[in-house]
Amino acid sequence: MIYNSTRDRSVRMTSTEAILKGLSDEGGLFVPEEIPAFKKSLSELSRLDYRELAFEVMYPYLDDFTEAELKACIANAYGDNFDTAEIAPLTYADGVYYLELYHGPTIAFKDMALQILPHLMTTAAEKNNVKNDIVILTATSGDTGKAAMAGFADVPHTRIMVFFPHGGVSDVQRLQMVTQPGSNVSVVSVDGNFDDCQSGVKRIFGDTDFKKELEAKGCQFSSANSINIGRLVPQIVYYVYAYCNLLKNEKIREGDSIDICVPTGNFGNILAAYLAKKMGLPVNRLICASNKNNVLTDFFKSGTYDRNRDFHLTMSPSMDILISSNLERLIYFISGCDDRATSGFMSSLSSKGSYTITEEMKKGLSDFMAGYATEEETASEIRRVYDDTGYIIDTHTGVASAVYRALSDDAGSCPAVIASTASPYKFARSIVEAVSPDITADDRSDMDMIDELEKLTDMPEPKAVSDIKKAEIRHNMHIPADRMKEAVREFLL
Ligand SMILES: *Cc1c(COP(=O)(O)O)cnc(C)c1O
Repeated sequence: MIYNSTRDRSVRMTSTEAILKGLSDEGGLFVPEEIPAFKKSLSELSRLDYRELAFEVMYPYLDDFTEAELKACIANAYGDNFDTAEIAPLTYADGVYYLELYHGPTIAFKDMALQILPHLMTTAAEKNNVKNDIVILTATSGDTGKAAMAGFADVPHTRIMVFFPHGGVSDVQRLQMVTQPGSNVSVVSVDGNFDDCQSGVKRIFGDTDFKKELEAKGCQFSSANSINIGRLVPQIVYYVYAYCNLLKNEKIREGDSIDICVPTGNFGNILAAYLAKKMGLPVNRLICASNKNNVLTDFFKSGTYDRNRDFHLTMSPSMDILISSNLERLIYFISGCDDRATSGFMSSLSSKGSYTITEEMKKGLSDFMAGYATEEETASEIRRVYDDTGYIIDTHTGVASAVYRALSDDAGSCPAVIASTASPYKFARSIVEAVSPDITADDRSDMDMIDELEKLTDMPEPKAVSDIKKAEIRHNMHIPADRMKEAVREFLL
C-alpha cells in the first residue's frame, strides 16, 4: 500500500514511513492510494474476535509490517488494558445501538487508536532503522493528552510531553494527566488557552535549529494527533466489528444496511466509518453530528466550509473545534484525488477562513447526512434516554443521539449504530445536571458529582476514576506560553 499526500500526489510513502512522519512536508495529510476491499465475507469476519478482526481490517493498509509484527502490535494494544474482552461492546437502548468506545484505560474513544499507535510507531522506527528516540509533543484540550500518555508511558525509545491550558480542563481530566506515571512522560500546564498550547507546539515543530540540536542528542519529533494515519486505520475496525456483532446476533442479515452516527470534532472518527463503507461495509447513511460549533453541518448542507464564526464552549468540549483537520482527506477523495484542488481549498481556508467545493464534488457528499444539537437538546436527550431506559450516555454521545433522533425519519428504517465516545463519568457534572436538575452542582467539586452519578446508575465507577482519587500528583510544572521550548529542552537534554 502506498500513501500519497493530499496536497502532492507524487509523494509516495509506505505505511511505516507515513506513521513516522505524521504529516507530509508540504502540509498535506497521507491518504491510501486505493481503498482495499474486505478479503473475507462479512459472515466469515463475524466469527472473529476483536484482535483477529483488527488484523483482517488493518493489514491491507499496513502491509509493510510483517504479519507477526502487526499481530504483536494488536495483541499489546487490545487486551487486559480494556475492562471488557469485547473491547467495543454494543448496547441496545431505546431503539438504537450504542457502540461503546470508552472501555480503554482513559475512558474516552481516543484509546482505541492511542493504545496501538506507540506499538506501530516503535515497530515502524525499527523497520526504518531510526536510531533516534521518538519525541511526541501534544497540545490537548483534555482527552488526547491523557490517552497519548497512557499509550506511550514507558515505551522504550519514546518520550512524550503534553501541554494543557491552565484552568482550561475539567478536574477529572487534569487529575488524570498530572498523576500519569512513567519515566518518559512530562505534563505541563500553560498560562493560556488551548490555541496557545497548539501554536506553541506547532512553532517548536517548525523550529529547524531546535530540530538540529535535538537530532544531535539523538531525538526526533513525531505526532500522535489524529492526522496520523496510524490513528485513522485502527478506528476502521470497530465499525466492522459492530456490524459483525449485529450479524452474529441475528439482528441483521448479511448485506443489510445500517446507519452510523458519529459525534464529530476533528472528523477522524467519522472518516474511519467512511473508509469502512468504501471497503464494502453496507452503510446506508453516515451521520455527522456536531454541537453548537456547527461548521460541518453548514458545510454538508451548502458545500461551503466557513470558520468565520463565533467559537462556543459547550458541555461536549472534545467537539469544540472550528477547523476539522481530517475533512481534508474527504475533500481529496471527493475531488477525484485532485491534489492541486485540495491544496487550493486548504490555502483558501488558511487565508480567508473559508472555501466552497464544486457542484461535481458535492455529489460525493451523498454518503453523509449532517445535523447539530444545541446544549438544551443534548441535555434533554441524555435525560430522555435515561428516563426511558436507565442507560446513561455522555455529553458527546448525547449530541449524536439527539441528532440521530431529529434526522431518523429521513435516515430510513435500518438499524442505527451511534458511536459512544466517552464514559459519562468523564463528564459527570454535565450528566448529573442533565438527568436530575434538582441536584445543585454549582459549588461542588467534580469528585462530588462523580459520587452523585454513581447513585444514579448501575454502571460501576470505572477504574480510571477510582485510580485518580488515590493517585499521587507527579507533575506540577506550570509555565508561561513563551517558555514551552525551554520546557522541552529541559525535559529532553
Ligand atoms: C475526540 C473526541 C470526539 C471527536 O472525534 P473526532 O475524531 O475528532 O471527530 C468526540 N467525542 C469524544 C469524547 C472525543 O474525545
